[in-house]
Amino acid sequence: MSDGILRCAKLTLALELGPSAGQHTALLRTVERCNDACNWIAEVAFRERCANKIRLQKIVYLEARERFELPGQMATRPIPKVVEADKCDRTVQPHFRAHGAVPYDQRNISWKAPDRVGLLTLNGREAVPYLFGEYQNARRDRTRGQADLVLRRNVFSLYATADAPEPPQGRYTEYLGIDLGIVDLATDSDGIISTGEAGRRLCRVSAHRRRNLSREGTKACRRKLRRISGRQRRFQADTNHRNSKHVVAVARRTKRGLAREDLQGIRERGTVRRRQRARHANWGFSRLRSPIGYKVRQLGVPAVLVDPRNTSRTCPDRACIDQVNRPTRDRFECVSCGLAGPADAIAARNIAFRARAAVMQPKVSDAGSVPEAPETSHLL
Ligand SMILES: [Zn+2]
Repeated sequence: MSDGILRCAKLTLALELGPSAGQHTALLRTVERCNDACNWIAEVAFRERCANKIRLQKIVYLEARERFELPGQMATRPIPKVVEADKCDRTVQPHFRAHGAVPYDQRNISWKAPDRVGLLTLNGREAVPYLFGEYQNARRDRTRGQADLVLRRNVFSLYATADAPEPPQGRYTEYLGIDLGIVDLATDSDGIISTGEAGRRLCRVSAHRRRNLSREGTKACRRKLRRISGRQRRFQADTNHRNSKHVVAVARRTKRGLAREDLQGIRERGTVRRRQRARHANWGFSRLRSPIGYKVRQLGVPAVLVDPRNTSRTCPDRACIDQVNRPTRDRFECVSCGLAGPADAIAARNIAFRARAAVMQPKVSDAGSVPEAPETSHLL
């Protein structure tokens, strides 16, 4: 990202499918067959050392169609999936679960009927009813025709990609600053802390258990490991969802924009004590972003990213930057004016301040004209 802006944000709509018994079987067979195909293609790709989509398609397309009796529009779909998986680690051949997600695109999905979705299966096209609420219905016309067919606990869902609504226009001069801290999950410039204590405890406990389980390495241990990490992931996703919802709602209610640090490369920044490293890498940093990202769009709150340097070492009153201002990781004490407080809350104030300064400062190119609102929707 050149300037940290993602103009075309996407959101994912989860639609639960309600197939008939026959359709369920057809979908199941299709999913299994596609994953078989993925595994075979992965084997070929690995053997031929080919990670190029177009070259790989030339090698495998005809044989994949024949071997797995896939309709033409489906035989190409596993190829990008294999290439993507291959990119993660070229030294191992990726393996696909029998019921792994199957990608659909415009060629094998259709959204024409209001309450059914046309899906291509091994038995041809099936019009599968789906359940939707108000939320999904309002966004249905923004789906782009791409979706993943997901099977979880014997229930089929479609995770459809939709365009997020356009960011709001308008001028904002006041911002609510958010600091994604190490000690507290997020602190805003009003000093309100969304603490993640319960989550952190869960992280600590499960990190410990995971370590023990992976040392043992038996099959039962691996199964247990998967369950634990699933539980932790869902807990984190849920906590982040609620926190970001709260933060965006506060900004909206108080008619402010939302300011946050530009966290590209955050892990390289500064020193993190060993004890905190796992927490730092796991929690918050990567995950709080995306829910905020689309919630600001949904609720029409402008958002801006600011330079993260020294936000927790700068005194918001005197603008003096000094390492000494931060005697401990959690504490801020200004050496020149004596202002003191939790480091995260001070950082959040600086973030809000920086966002405001950036907006108030006219661009050099159009000096004299009215300052524009900052680019919105940076928060993805
Ligand atoms: Zn000061």
